[in-house]
Amino acid sequence: MSKVLIIGAGGVGSVVAHKCAMNSQVFTEIMLASRTLSKCDKIAAEIKEMHGVSIQTAQVDADVVAETVMLIKRFRPFLLINVALPYQDLALMDACLQTGVHYLDTANYEPKDVAKFEYSWQWAYQDRFKEAGLMALLGCGFDPGVTQVFTAYANKHHFDEMHYLDIIDCNAGDHGKAFATNFNPEINIREITQPGRYWENGEWVEIPAMSIHKPIEYPGIGPRESYVLYHEELESLVKNFPALKRARFWMTFGQAYITHLNVLQNVGMTSIAPINFKGVDIVPLEFLKAVLPAPDSLGENYQGQTSIGVQIKGVKDGKETTYYVWNNCDHAETYKEVRGQAVSYTTGVPAMIGAMLMITNPEWMKPGVWNCEELNPDPFMEKLNTHGLPWNERINEALPHEYPA
Ligand code: NDP
Repeated sequence: MSKVLIIGAGGVGSVVAHKCAMNSQVFTEIMLASRTLSKCDKIAAEIKEMHGVSIQTAQVDADVVAETVMLIKRFRPFLLINVALPYQDLALMDACLQTGVHYLDTANYEPKDVAKFEYSWQWAYQDRFKEAGLMALLGCGFDPGVTQVFTAYANKHHFDEMHYLDIIDCNAGDHGKAFATNFNPEINIREITQPGRYWENGEWVEIPAMSIHKPIEYPGIGPRESYVLYHEELESLVKNFPALKRARFWMTFGQAYITHLNVLQNVGMTSIAPINFKGVDIVPLEFLKAVLPAPDSLGENYQGQTSIGVQIKGVKDGKETTYYVWNNCDHAETYKEVRGQAVSYTTGVPAMIGAMLMITNPEWMKPGVWNCEELNPDPFMEKLNTHGLPWNERINEALPHEYPA
């Protein structure tokens, strides 16, 4: 039915390419393009071998709008899926506007020289996308992405008003490495070394990084120490659900991970300020990324599960109600299916589903710039169940962590 151009051939890009190829009745032509062509070719060969589907590959520097424009003019896709890095978001949105192509990504824009992410830069494209009759779907991975679909689904079916929202994200997997991040190390470390932030009573409360934590009971996994972080979907959720009195995001970290991170921070390796080394300016965090294992190399021996969900407390028909919805995903299973670990998988599958809905479901194709909770959650929830990310729910039953704490 449609041609799709995937930009970025890392852990997530590989899963998106595999899953699009596995749904070739919708994605009738696929091109995977990235900075390093050999990575695209390796994934293309794997897809041919595993699913019998041929995809095209290309080299592109997505920071350069003219290069992407040229590639788009050559391939003429319906939709561009951006699973490169957040730094490329605006350049790729510009390229889509110039060529009349729809856009989807999984992480909000972040300038390279400031460790700060927010939606303002991308929301500023609203009028231009609307006027061009084009759609941009922002943050369509798992978190952001599915967490907002979960919240929209809860709001539609289980609440008249939602008051307390906690997104809880656990990776209980073991990849056997001393220290590695599950998605791009540079982006991951920039995210978790920033001060934490959550929404309470109409304003943001800022806290020192990793300073609020407690054990949370994840289904099928057990209790895991979880830390309050700032995460991008909170910004759009509190805007779109103004009755929320509090919204927080929790993520698990093991003690060994935190110890490594503290040491790296203490010796200056997580800094993004350039230093001069033997006459060359280098950014310590970029150098650190170069020596850490790549996210797409973790899959082979990864054991254990991820569990990501949303728990909400609010009111339905005048009665206090709680709701918890979640997905557990197994690293070894996803590796078997698409040669990727569960963090890449839980990001790549929703990106494919978002793209599929934009192509096939008129309700999911509206000009403008949208976050995932702004569209009808039902068809998305249905597709999670059929494309590898089945979900479970608990209505008015025990929650992973009890309110009001
Ligand atoms: P990786 O580092 O594994 O892959 C990034 C890819 O982007 C690499 O192939 C890289 O190329 C390519 N790339 C970087 N810069 C450019 C450029 N200028 N032009 C073209 N290609 C470029 O990261 P992940 O796959 O783990 O993550 C991809 C994205 O997914 C990130 O934005 C991340 O924040 C997001 N993400 C979202 C999640 C969610 O749930 N919403 C969860 C996890 C990740 P090269 O190999 O040459 O460096």
